[in-house]
Amino acid sequence: MLNTALKLIKTIEDHGYIAYIVGGFVRDQLLGITSNDIDICTNARPSDIRSIFPNSCLPNEAYGSITVVVKNIRFEITTFRKEIRYLNNRKPIEFEYIDDLLEDLNRRDFRINTICMNKDGKIIDLLNGKEDLDKREIRTVGDSINKFSEDALRILRAVRFATSLNFSLSQEIKDAIIETRHYVRNLSFDRKKEELNKIFANVNVRYGIKLLLELGLDKELELTNLKDLKTFDDLIGIWTQLDVDNIYPFTKNERELMKQIREVLNSDINSFSLYKYGLYVNSIVADIKKIDRKKVTKMYQDLPIKCRTDILINGRDIMKLLARQPGGYLKEILIDIERQILIGKLENKKEILEKYILDHYHSTQD
Ligand code: ATP
Ligand code: MG
Repeated sequence: MLNTALKLIKTIEDHGYIAYIVGGFVRDQLLGITSNDIDICTNARPSDIRSIFPNSCLPNEAYGSITVVVKNIRFEITTFRKEIRYLNNRKPIEFEYIDDLLEDLNRRDFRINTICMNKDGKIIDLLNGKEDLDKREIRTVGDSINKFSEDALRILRAVRFATSLNFSLSQEIKDAIIETRHYVRNLSFDRKKEELNKIFANVNVRYGIKLLLELGLDKELELTNLKDLKTFDDLIGIWTQLDVDNIYPFTKNERELMKQIREVLNSDINSFSLYKYGLYVNSIVADIKKIDRKKVTKMYQDLPIKCRTDILINGRDIMKLLARQPGGYLKEILIDIERQILIGKLENKKEILEKYILDHYHSTQD
């Protein structure tokens, strides 16, 4: 990955520009963590990048940033810029291309994200990012209140990086977050959810939640249940407990799952809940209620039937058995035997089911 990146930088430089790897990749490399995309900064303009790599650029260009894909690795190539105007504490709506690396680094969020690597693999650390890596502390580039007021997403990024790297936040950052946290309300729920997901999916999630609570971000994010959240390896299970499906975006399928999980949460994990909603929904409830997942899996495996087609008699058999035309009575019988099988009162064997049906339903014929 690094070799491909260095080659790409050389190609840009062969065309008379300068370019560096910057951001997450260099930071993670120094920490011995692998990353899956690489950010590159350069004084070449997007149109220059397009003419240097005519065949490997993705078509969409967001804020003057071009994605080049080489050997399946995504390179985000961004021209040096100065940001001029921000709207509603988010994304600059106006920026200017510049030629100076230092000025570009100054518009970035955190010092740990400003470390660069040149074409020879040499580290260029103009804003003391390495010092913060060594101290395992996150500090903003310049004044924290300014940084967070310009773009409130940086508040959530600060907590997210602290969580994923297990770093502390500088006192200046903490104070500034408390001062500017109300701007978080101006962010879209999509962006908020994206950052929150990265916090919730991380092994250090408890630390992330502690920071969110300590900094009073739970209120700004409208996560009133955050303090009681049980954490485990499933985002849907986490969002179910947060109970914010009315404000945060979810797919139809996710909403349905959350509804089912809540239904089981409000009753019990038993043969019926396992049969009706399956193992996944019940396992999440087990996690929330701190019930051993293995126990639930065993209960599921031991179910005499797992779906209606497992019942060894069907509507057609019943009609024949009772010598009756189709009708609403079939559903009633099937629901009854399904229930009897699940509570263990009836064995799922054709003769036994036939006998039960004859005993209980034969006389009710019209
Ligand atoms: P990762 O990719 O691991 O999430 P990253 O640091 O690479 O982390 P990206 O979102 O890929 O983060 O952004 C690349 C770089 O762009 C960052 O390292 C940072 O220098 C800069 N950057 C990104 N978002 C912002 C922002 N909202 N404000 C200021 N600088 C930013
Ligand atoms: Mg990145």
